[in-house]
Amino acid sequence: MTLRSSFGISFKPNNYLEVTTADLKQKLQSIDTTKAVILGENTNSIFNEFVELDCVRYIDNELSVDGSTITAGASINWHELVKISVNNNLYGLENLAHIPGSVGASPIQNIGAYGQDVSQVIKFVECLDLESLEIFQLTKNECNFCYRSSIFQSRKYLITKVSFELESIFKPNLNYKSLSEYVAKNSINISKDNIIETIGRVRALRLPDIKVLPNCGSFFKNPIVDSNQDIDSNIDIIEISESFKKLSAASMIGHVKNKLKLQGGIELHKNHDLVLTNPKNASFNELLESIESIKNTVFNEFGIPLQTEPIIYK
Ligand SMILES: Cc1cc2nc3c(=O)[nH]c(=O)nc-3n(C[C@H](O)[C@H](O)[C@H](O)COP(=O)(O)OP(=O)(O)OC[C@H]3O[C@@H](n4cnc5c(N)ncnc54)[C@H](O)[C@@H]3O)c2cc1C
Repeated sequence: MTLRSSFGISFKPNNYLEVTTADLKQKLQSIDTTKAVILGENTNSIFNEFVELDCVRYIDNELSVDGSTITAGASINWHELVKISVNNNLYGLENLAHIPGSVGASPIQNIGAYGQDVSQVIKFVECLDLESLEIFQLTKNECNFCYRSSIFQSRKYLITKVSFELESIFKPNLNYKSLSEYVAKNSINISKDNIIETIGRVRALRLPDIKVLPNCGSFFKNPIVDSNQDIDSNIDIIEISESFKKLSAASMIGHVKNKLKLQGGIELHKNHDLVLTNPKNASFNELLESIESIKNTVFNEFGIPLQTEPIIYK
């Protein structure tokens, strides 16, 4: 069994287990679950070709709709869930349409796009404690959601289901600048019938298709700094509040791009400096060297550390 990240780097796990609710506990007894990696669709994970890991994929494609609550099994494709929610006249996930990956991974980094984070509509997350092998539910507050982070990044849990509390009235959230500009420029009358397609078109302007050009979407998190911190005028500020500023990592990388030493043909995407692409099958080491070059160059220029968004298994 060979696994491939959407970044185009493949590896062979020591053990690969597919588990369901029925055989979960029995199958997991054969490995050290505290060291195992839970797999989704590998669009936000990159593995060293030679890493030694036991990998587990949990299969649950069940979906239930109860009033305004949708509860979805972890292995359902995320975009399929968004389409199902709108087809059921339930709203709140639309701005997250077309994000690659699985339902089970959506709480891990609290996926977000166009002014919407998934945590805003999560009711509870059902998971298995990888130490005790007990299944339990965490409420939204217990998940410690923040910008691109959650309690699940501790890797102590396997997410089995995610439950969403949605709205029955369609109120499009068009506050995000690039989305509202696209809608205005193209004179689109946004409705429940065209919102998903519109989000897809806006995304395609900036993000490459993983089937055509290997990538993991945004490669670095937008750094959050104290609101009092002085910021170089070349850095775009995405959001500002009394306590923090969220800085555009893309603006920092864009500013230093001529100084970067990217290896193995790795490139910044022509339409978005935050997206690394791998058109020439760079190796894992070439990727690590490229990441170091970007982090060091940005730090030397601006004094701001960058953090990768994909999980890197060295
Ligand atoms: C072109 C492109 C565009 C993207 N756009 C966005 C965007 O707009 N917004 C955004 O937030 N992200 C975006 N991403 C990142 C990615 O789509 C999300 O992080 C997505 O949730 C990853 O899903 P996955 O199933 O592929 O996760 P994987 O890469 O398989 O896993 C990611 C992490 O979650 C863990 N995990 C996966 N499933 C489970 C489970 N059931 N239980 C416990 N742990 C689990 C894995 O161990 C790993 O640590 C983009 C990626 C690409 C390639």
